[in-house]
Amino acid sequence: MKVLKGGTLIDGTGAGPVSGATVVVRDQRIEAVTTRAGGDLPSEAEVIDVSGMTILPGLIDCHDHLAMHGYDLARRWGIDEPQSTRALRTAKVLQDTLAVGYTAVRDAGGLDAGFKRAIDEGLIAGPRLVISLCIVSPIGGIGDRVSPSGFSCCLPNDPLLPDSVANSLADVRPVVRRIVRAGADVIKCATTGGASSRPGHGPRDGAFNLDEMQALTKEAHALDRRVMCHALGGRGLQIAIEAGVDSIEHGCYLDEEPELLDMMAERGTFFVPTFAVYEYHRKSALAHVRERAQHLQEHHAESLRRAFAAGVKIAAGTDAGGHGHPSNAMEIECLVKAGLTPLQALRAATGWAAECLGLERDVGTVEKGKLADLVVVAGDPLNDVAVLQDHAHIALVLKGGETVANRLAMAPR
Ligand SMILES: [Zn+2]
Repeated sequence: MKVLKGGTLIDGTGAGPVSGATVVVRDQRIEAVTTRAGGDLPSEAEVIDVSGMTILPGLIDCHDHLAMHGYDLARRWGIDEPQSTRALRTAKVLQDTLAVGYTAVRDAGGLDAGFKRAIDEGLIAGPRLVISLCIVSPIGGIGDRVSPSGFSCCLPNDPLLPDSVANSLADVRPVVRRIVRAGADVIKCATTGGASSRPGHGPRDGAFNLDEMQALTKEAHALDRRVMCHALGGRGLQIAIEAGVDSIEHGCYLDEEPELLDMMAERGTFFVPTFAVYEYHRKSALAHVRERAQHLQEHHAESLRRAFAAGVKIAAGTDAGGHGHPSNAMEIECLVKAGLTPLQALRAATGWAAECLGLERDVGTVEKGKLADLVVVAGDPLNDVAVLQDHAHIALVLKGGETVANRLAMAPR
């Protein structure tokens, strides 16, 4: 039994902070959350004094690419180093991500099921994973890996990352089934280009038609998989929402679609904005990427504010990977800069994020009965949310009751 004693609790439900909180952890789960001082604790209890610190639920990133290590073609295609080196590089990212307080991550493409298995077997440390393997799109969409010179990706077909190009209505179901067979927990698809996609396939350029997207969503749901859809703006964004995807990823031009925001709120479609990645793209060496990232910036922030006002649940996602693996909590600060309060932004990275991933019965909030995924922060994130990016301030991380990082002795008080 572990007892975190005397901290300020932000429980991830959206409720305000509670000072003098004690969280009792037995085995994997939270046994009690209380503000009563003292009380009888069994003699074997490990009491951890966290006074002056903040207790949070384990943080959750709903859009990461843990196995991606750069945007240039050689790295994107994994031809710049041996596959084994690349796999170990990915393992390091998984370990580091957990150690800074991210106890659950949804991978939006690139990570195969073997990494999840390695974590489950205890071979490597890492967050709880929800994985998509690859990105379903038609020819010309972002899941169709072709170089600027027109060559197809040189990699041999990796059965763990199946071909995800669905090019007709009849193609859609087998592609979804093949990805599920390879171990996907969620289906990732794309109905528009993005900031970094090839010239000619930008944020408002569509991919897929409504019939195809309806077939995709129906098949995924029939297999009990949610659909996360990369969609920035225009017709492709409309089609994704109409087809009933479970979350809109990026959603930079949602501000132009007020009736669709109402539809999202009504249906419980999540919005996963990704501000951190566009800060990177705004400094891209490629002019078309820079211009797209600059143009969408204000729309993206306005989309967040309008979606929130319409009652759409927001979930935090960094889209890390291509732009390296900075502190995932950078996105929480971006959400605050774009208009959420720190408390709302924290909810987007905890309680709402868990709902977006379908894990809310077990994680996302600090409540009796939940898995003890907990982060103790030396500081007050409501006062300065950037403290979450300072690893020295992430004093203690528990995943399922187990201590996976402990910097308590060094943490500033
Ligand atoms: Zn992404």
